Amino acid sequence: MNGGTTEKSIAENVAAVRERIAAAANRAGRKADEVTLVAVSKTRMPGEIETAVEAGVLDLGENKVQEIRSKYDILRVFTENSAKNRNIKWHMIGHLQRNKVKYIVDKVSLIHSVDSLRLAEEIDCRIDSLGGTMDVLLQVNAAAEESKSGVAPGEVKQLVSAILGTCENVRIRGLMTIVPTANDPEDVRRYFSEIKSLYDEVGHEYRCEKLDFTWLSMGMTHDFEVAVEEGANMVRVGTGIFGSRVYV
Ligand SMILES: *Cc1c(COP(=O)(O)O)cnc(C)c1O
Repeated sequence: MNGGTTEKSIAENVAAVRERIAAAANRAGRKADEVTLVAVSKTRMPGEIETAVEAGVLDLGENKVQEIRSKYDILRVFTENSAKNRNIKWHMIGHLQRNKVKYIVDKVSLIHSVDSLRLAEEIDCRIDSLGGTMDVLLQVNAAAEESKSGVAPGEVKQLVSAILGTCENVRIRGLMTIVPTANDPEDVRRYFSEIKSLYDEVGHEYRCEKLDFTWLSMGMTHDFEVAVEEGANMVRVGTGIFGSRVYV
């Protein structure tokens, strides 16, 4: 794939990724429709994103606040003018600074990257003035990589208790992880399986109105099949749908 991905190939890529998700789910004895595909549209032009939406993708992931702000309205106009009733959900998947929370809390359906009490409190406070609740995932740094955000697996329960203790308007819906980049996805299978065990344990132990584990967000273009086999029910795929990114 190259930078000149055509509209046709975006649609074909979406279909191919869906087939591979279905096959991986089947291998694990699960159903394909249990797995939500989040198309990671960072750096992509609105036209490319619209093509993916036309191909049936309704969950879009972005890692920068500014990109969500600028694309949100364009895509809303697109879906309003579209013949089919399409309800796009935006996912914030990147590191989120507290001073930028206010720009996206009214736009995103799920924040995947909560990794501190202070960030959860800021979300809680901003939602308070809007009304409703915000669904979040806790980001876990599965391999304790210096370069990655997220809490260590051993600190997840502490963070859960702290958030449940102070945040009224935040609902913890599950966990998200980014595993190390590996040439062979088999090398990272153990991280996916560890995070899945943690997900099951915490979801069971803390279950309450404000903690309802539903989503285990793990797996990207190079490793989503292994992630699904190990229990992911939300995968975040960018390159595999849109082609390789060109950062300018
Ligand atoms: C960019 C990104 C992805 C998608 O990566 P690809 O390798 O292009 O599929 C997934 N998750 C996060 C958090 C990202 O920043």
